[in-house]
Amino acid sequence: MNISVIGAGQMGNGIAHVFAQSGHRVTLVDIAQAGLDKGLATISKNLDRQVAKGTLTDEQKATTLGNITTNTDLAAGVKAAELVVEAATENVDLKLKIFRDLDAHAPAACILATNTSSISITRIAAATKRPTQVIGMHFMNPVPVMKLVEVIRGYDTTDAVTSTVMDLSKAIGKTPVAVNDYAGFVANRILMPMINEAIQTLFQGVGGVQEIDTIMKLGMAHPMGPLQLADFIGLDTCLAIMRVLHEGLGEAKYAPCPLLVQMVTAGKLGAKSGEGFYVYTAGSKELVVAPAFTR
Ligand code: NAD
Repeated sequence: MNISVIGAGQMGNGIAHVFAQSGHRVTLVDIAQAGLDKGLATISKNLDRQVAKGTLTDEQKATTLGNITTNTDLAAGVKAAELVVEAATENVDLKLKIFRDLDAHAPAACILATNTSSISITRIAAATKRPTQVIGMHFMNPVPVMKLVEVIRGYDTTDAVTSTVMDLSKAIGKTPVAVNDYAGFVANRILMPMINEAIQTLFQGVGGVQEIDTIMKLGMAHPMGPLQLADFIGLDTCLAIMRVLHEGLGEAKYAPCPLLVQMVTAGKLGAKSGEGFYVYTAGSKELVVAPAFTR
């Protein structure tokens, strides 16, 4: 199948990786060549890890990379697509514009999927003239490792389109689960308020970064504490999702914590910017609490 992936960030490069590894021809599209280069370098590094583990051969790695081409021009990058998976920045206006462009340039039969974490599929679909062919395909991070794909049916999404996406997800080794379209769907409707509450707990001085994460790891058997997970997801993405929940569900309990807003304003976006609740140094796996939370 010809699949175009829009956005070569942490999710987009993972989505391109898993489709290419299953033999699909992938076109990875980003606005900046630097983003595409970084995305391809990440895919190559992650494939190396699979080779080192013995789950992939060198030849399979080369074939996977050979299945991926890149393009900085969206119109050219989707002109032969049978499926598009959009994984650009979590911003409603940006996604509405991208979907208008996808609708104008992708073939009429092409399914348009979005990896949005929280934005209404119905709203995105309404920006196109093919709302029956628009669907949520919400991969989890890191994409090559995590099994779940949350498949979100918009108001008009047909059963046939849903079945195609469910079958395709299974064929690339994932477990799809279909849900309906309300803000945050299921995964982030539950996860993000927990992360926001962990930040609120830190903000109110109930516990420090390590205390909060240790309590949730050891007490709830979570593999990662909520603050470390927020860093991993990206604090800008967490804030964007809380805003969608707040606006979409209209309840005060979804208001983003002021500390989260402050950190994003200061450019502390978590692992991808080098600092969030922890600091991240290339080549080091040690978890060091950020200076802002040790003074
Ligand atoms: P990211 O910031 O790592 O990457 C976003 C990429 O989109 C960047 O490379 C950027 O250059 C590109 N981009 C921006 N505008 C574009 C445009 N007009 N055309 C093409 N590319 C464009 O973000 P991410 O974490 O990969 O998140 C991407 C999407 O996936 C968001 O909708 C997010 O909510 C969702 N998501 C994220 C996670 C997570 O854990 N980070 C998990 C599931 C879903």
